[in-house]
Amino acid sequence: ENGESNRDTIDTVQVALRIRPLMQQEIERGCDECIDVVPGEPQVQIKDLAFTYNYVFPQHITQQEFYDTAVKGLIRKLFQGYNVTILAYGQTGSGKTYTMGTNYSGSEGDSTNLGVIPQAVADIFDFIDVNENKFTFKVTVSFMELYQEQCYDLLSGKERGHSVIDIREDINKGVHLPGITELPVTSTAETMMVLEKGSIGRVTGSTAMNQASSRSHAVFTIMVAKESKTDKNLATTSKFHFVDLAGSERIKKTKASGERLREGVKINQGLLALGNVISALGDGTNRSFISYRDSKLTRLLQDSLGGNSLTMMVACVSPADYNLDETVSTLRYADRAR
Ligand code: ADP
Ligand code: MG
Repeated sequence: ENGESNRDTIDTVQVALRIRPLMQQEIERGCDECIDVVPGEPQVQIKDLAFTYNYVFPQHITQQEFYDTAVKGLIRKLFQGYNVTILAYGQTGSGKTYTMGTNYSGSEGDSTNLGVIPQAVADIFDFIDVNENKFTFKVTVSFMELYQEQCYDLLSGKERGHSVIDIREDINKGVHLPGITELPVTSTAETMMVLEKGSIGRVTGSTAMNQASSRSHAVFTIMVAKESKTDKNLATTSKFHFVDLAGSERIKKTKASGERLREGVKINQGLLALGNVISALGDGTNRSFISYRDSKLTRLLQDSLGGNSLTMMVACVSPADYNLDETVSTLRYADRAR
C-alpha cells in the first residue's frame, strides 16, 4: 500500500501520519497507548473514530523507512522543476523536529537515525553528482523562523532583532524575501553546517529555549537551479521547503496569559490559515480564491502549496492516553488536508 511515491503522478497534497513510540518515562509512569493502526491499511482508530491518510507510519518505523517511503520520491520531482514542501504538524513533543531533523547537530554522530532534512540533502547532492556531466547546478539555502507573525533570518549572523525580513510578492519575482541570506552550497557537509549554524541561532536567540522554539515555525529552504549544458533553454529553478511547524496544542491547556496568549493566537493564525489553504486545495477550490494572505506562513509558502507544486503534510502524534485530545485534534486537522 506504500507504493504511491513510485507513481509518476503524485497528488498535489499528500498526508502522512507518524506515530512516535511511547517515551521511557511514559512507560515508567504506566501510560497506555490509545491509538490503533489497522493492519495493512493506511488507517488508524482512536476512541470510536477512524481516519485514513495516504500513509500511516506506526511506532516501529525507522527514520530511514519513513524517508524512503514518504520523501525520497519527491527529490526527483524537485529536479523536474516542481516546488516541494514538507510540513511537520503536531503538538509539542509529538516528533516534528525528530522527523524533520531540524535540530541537526553533526556532533550527535548517530548517522543511522537522520531526519528528513539531512537525508534529503544527501540525495540532492547524489543526484547532482550523477547528472553533473549534462547539467550545471546551483544550490542555495536559506533558513528562517516565523514567530509572532514576524519572519527572522536565521543565517544573517546578526542578533534576532536585526534579522527581521519582509515577505513580498511581485509578478516577476513571485514570492521573495528582500535581503534574506541565501548561501550557495556545494556539498552535503557544507549544507549541514549551515543547518546546524541556523538551529543554534534559533535556540540562543530566545531566553526560554524549548518553549520559544515550540511556538515558532522553522523553515529551511533549498533552492535548485538546473541548466542543460547543451541547451540553455532547458533550465528549471525550484525550491524545497522543510517546515517544522509550531506546536499545535491549544492554548487553553497551557494556562496562557498576556504575552503567551498573544503568541498562541498568532501561531494559531499561521496553522489556521495553513489548514484552510490545504483543505481548499484538497477540495479542488480554484487557486485564485484561496486565501494565502491570512498569515505570514501561507504567504511565504504560496508558490509552493497548490498549483505546480507538491506538498507532504506529516501529522505527528503521540500514542499516549494522556495526549488523546491533542492527538484527535491533529488527526482531524490532517483529515481536512486530504
Ligand atoms: P516536537 O518537535 O514535536 O516537539 P520532538 O521531535 O522534539 O517533538 O520529539 C519529542 C521526543 O520524542 C524527543 O525526545 C524525540 O527524540 C522523541 N521521538 C519523537 N519521535 C520519535 C520516533 N519516531 N522514534 C523515537 N523517538 C522519537
Ligand atoms: Mg520541535
